[in-house]
Amino acid sequence: MSTPLDRSTLWPYDEQGELGDFYYQRDGSPTVAAAEEALGELDGGTALLFPSGSGATTALVLSVLKTGDTIALAQGCYFGTGRTFAALGRWGLDVVEFDQTGPPPEGVQLVWLEAPSNPFLTMPDLEAAAAHPAPVVVDSTVATPVLLRPLQHGADFVLHSATKYLAGHDDALLGAVVCRDPATAGELHTFRTYTGIVAAPDPAWLLLRGLQTLELRVRRQTETAIFIAERLRAHPAVETVRYPGLGGLLSFDVVDAETARRVETSLHVIVNATSLGGVTTLLESRRRWEGDRVPAGLLRLSIGLEDPELLWSDLEQALAA
Ligand code: PLP
Repeated sequence: MSTPLDRSTLWPYDEQGELGDFYYQRDGSPTVAAAEEALGELDGGTALLFPSGSGATTALVLSVLKTGDTIALAQGCYFGTGRTFAALGRWGLDVVEFDQTGPPPEGVQLVWLEAPSNPFLTMPDLEAAAAHPAPVVVDSTVATPVLLRPLQHGADFVLHSATKYLAGHDDALLGAVVCRDPATAGELHTFRTYTGIVAAPDPAWLLLRGLQTLELRVRRQTETAIFIAERLRAHPAVETVRYPGLGGLLSFDVVDAETARRVETSLHVIVNATSLGGVTTLLESRRRWEGDRVPAGLLRLSIGLEDPELLWSDLEQALAA
């Protein structure tokens, strides 16, 4: 019933002395391949795993772009993605930010969207992006294939931090790229083998385990997020609530950084920590990471699987603290 966890780094050549499906782990391994197969089916494309979401971003960009190319990056998307691109800047990669609720700018070689964006929770205009001549990447970490299959909307690549909802239990660091075109996936696979940006079998096994409950988790997290967003919208200490109506991630603003810190440190059930997409509800001020890019009182909330009323009572007492 359970896919075996195969940690081998090598497999013998066959009886004729030829390569089998697997021969050296950097090129491919059975547990990673099984997880890729499962994820590829969910997203409707060819999936490749990487050691983290950021590793997947790096590999994809290095594989499809060249010096002098420009990426159109959705404003207000995961700040780490902009940081990754900035780190590649000295190899001649440029970035222009744009409002992903409208069409991407002309003259770029790659369009990078996020559905929904973290932590501003905007949804991209997928149709406008698909009409752009450049390849389109949708970071669908927060939507997951349960709520959105970007390849069906004309995207060329889906990116996941599988560390989040897909693995789902805060114990596996992993990333994925799902490609619409199998030949492009083949090129990315070769690039991955040559550069060694490859996922290990253990987190891949945890991803397989996580995928078995993905739909149940995401549906429950969405229900709870809708409930919590409504309560937050009606709360006098909450200024803005950002929630697109799908997924388990939302953000809201309290009046200032001091109040945000008080909420963070007054929680009893919800955990004050970074990351998102696991079974435990997490809250954190994003100011600490993103600086002036976010309002001083912005709190990001990743809904887990706890009882919704229990989560609300914890939030309510922290907002009153
Ligand atoms: N994309 C999004 C939307 C994220 O939230 C994150 C991490 O927070 C990443 C990518 C990067 O993934 P990882 O932390 O697995 O490198």
